[in-house]
Amino acid sequence: RLPVLVGGVIFQEQPRQMVAFMLDNSARKELEQRKDDFISMASHELKTPLTAVKLQIQLVRKRLEKQSQPEAATTLARVEDPVKQLERLVTELLDVSRIQAGSIEYRRERVDLDELLREVTATIHHLHPSHTILFRESVRASLIGDRDRLGQVFTNLISNAIKYSPDAEAVEIDLSPSEDAVTVHVRDHGLGIPREQLDKIFERFYRVTDLRQGAIPGLGMGLYIVAEIVKHHGGTITVDSTVGKGSTFTVTLPLMRDA
Ligand code: ADP
Repeated sequence: RLPVLVGGVIFQEQPRQMVAFMLDNSARKELEQRKDDFISMASHELKTPLTAVKLQIQLVRKRLEKQSQPEAATTLARVEDPVKQLERLVTELLDVSRIQAGSIEYRRERVDLDELLREVTATIHHLHPSHTILFRESVRASLIGDRDRLGQVFTNLISNAIKYSPDAEAVEIDLSPSEDAVTVHVRDHGLGIPREQLDKIFERFYRVTDLRQGAIPGLGMGLYIVAEIVKHHGGTITVDSTVGKGSTFTVTLPLMRDA
């Protein structure tokens, strides 16, 4: 029988079960690694043709503008939306694989969170005019971080709040700074999340298994990325939810210190 190395100790008489467990474990790790590699390769492979398609669309758009062909421009607009959607998915896939590889690069700049939230809210409202988004403004709140990545956090949370409120109920956002931190609440009155699944929704590719949510599309990447960005900024994210009543996501981020 071959000696097996476990934590630096060689057991000559290894019980069969233990060996089987170890093989299982390394096979599982290898499978995980292959899955990570696949996600990374797939996202890069998808990005290249997508960039080419976007470029061609831009060229055709320019040509159509010159020739003033409104019908063809409308047809082109119908292609642009799904291409944008595809681009968002591929960017999220890339983010997931960058998180796995620990290779996300963050900028360090001054971010006015109140202004950022106003901007994000306006953009989302433009995309979903039938939903009411209420942003209760308060005092200014500045912090040091990556503006685009923080924008991604709130875009994701507010978009989810709308997506999981199919009856078009209002989404409320409020920002309340304290002495050394700022707290943002994103509250919806939508489907809610079953209690036993609350701690899982920040995991990679997790989607709530609930009949009412079943028809809503998504891949379970957004909150995983959101949690990672918040963590990088030294903050926390929590969720409180009641099925049928709605959910509140709370993000707390450390404020910029004067010094
Ligand atoms: P996606 O929405 O693409 O599936 P996310 O990572 O953004 O992925 O969210 C993970 C899961 O958490 C979703 O599939 C959904 O089940 C649940 N979820 C997220 N936000 C909300 C919300 N505001 N209300 C109800 N469920 C939510």
